[in-house]
Amino acid sequence: MSDQSASSEQLPESTEGAVQRHFDRGQLNGTLLAHATEGIVMVDADGRVRSFNPAAERIFGRTAPLVLGREVGELLPDLDPTWPDGHLGRCLAQGVKVAGVGGEVTARRADGALLDLHLAVAEVEDEGRRHFFGFVHDISQLKRLEHQARAHLQELAHLDRLSALSDLTAGLAHEIAQPLTAVRTNAQACLTLLRSGNLDPAALEQAVTQIARQATHAGNIVSQLRAFLHRGEPGVSEAVAVPMLVDEVLALLSHELRGTGVTLVREHCDPPCQLLVNRIQIQQVLANLIKNACEAMADSAGERRLEVRSLCDRGTGSCEIQVADTGPGIAATHLEQIFDPFFTTKPQSLGQGLSICRSIVESHSGSLSAENSSTGGAMFRLRIPLETPGRRSDVAGA
Ligand code: ADP
Repeated sequence: MSDQSASSEQLPESTEGAVQRHFDRGQLNGTLLAHATEGIVMVDADGRVRSFNPAAERIFGRTAPLVLGREVGELLPDLDPTWPDGHLGRCLAQGVKVAGVGGEVTARRADGALLDLHLAVAEVEDEGRRHFFGFVHDISQLKRLEHQARAHLQELAHLDRLSALSDLTAGLAHEIAQPLTAVRTNAQACLTLLRSGNLDPAALEQAVTQIARQATHAGNIVSQLRAFLHRGEPGVSEAVAVPMLVDEVLALLSHELRGTGVTLVREHCDPPCQLLVNRIQIQQVLANLIKNACEAMADSAGERRLEVRSLCDRGTGSCEIQVADTGPGIAATHLEQIFDPFFTTKPQSLGQGLSICRSIVESHSGSLSAENSSTGGAMFRLRIPLETPGRRSDVAGA
């Protein structure tokens, strides 16, 4: 007898062998179903429930006798849109392939309460008949925590905007005062013309046109300000073109930028990237990056150039927005730290901005990173998935 066969004789019995000695297949299936922590629902080709394990009873709050033989759609009223027909029973009846399809679905408990489940489906053929096993895992608690985290981020982002406003107040007051002054001057000019009996239509029209234009300008500033400060609803996102996102932020910061000696370079791809985002939150990120860039260049003796670029990357299905400056750049040891809450190199700052920005971007399934560009200065890259038809718009709200 070789060493090899001698040692194989002493090998302990395999787990599989031991299990098979104790259970026939039916028993084994029954034991697995009874002890599985995941809900397992077996459905026949007509979409009727044929087996319902104890974990499924706990999850759905229904006992097996009440469910067996019933339409599976009663348990899963809102199937994920990825289901071919939106309804498992109908899919099965029509022979539509559902195995391997899965994801998050909404289920209904016996008391009517809705719960969030993760569902995976496996198809088994037994003596020419199709059966489907649905493996369900209750993710309601996870969803609640996600919702809470989004609500916290939303609140934090709002507080950050409020604090940003206190810095912008003086500039904005000036920004609004300018068109109002123009309105008053033109209104006075109209009055003077009217009182002098000079009803020259061309002169009157010019003054009134100016009044209308400047009043609209002041109104736009106030609307942008209100939108920026709005607490907003969580989960609200809208389709928006990147150049518009950028331009609105620059309009809000125009007073800050004026007189800083900063040259602004704007470049966008053609056609421009379209995003499905919470507009105000992404604008908050851009405003933060632009303000930081200007602050970094405040003491620069050389050229002060702020570059905002956007380009669609169809390969990765994302849009990259770059904000680059010609300031001193970021010390290599600080490159990751700058995204930590409360990290700051400014004496009067809280150091919250970039940490909030990164959370906002990540809640949009994107990324925010920093690097030093080869020509000097810092460059921030903000990547957000491009708007694609059917993408769900449940990103965090502001
Ligand atoms: P704060 O601006 O309040 O310090 P942030 O979180 O926005 O907070 O930024 C953290 C730190 O990152 C800043 O204190 C600064 O040291 C660094 N930083 C951010 N943007 C730039 C930039 N464009 N150039 C150089 N350093 C930067």
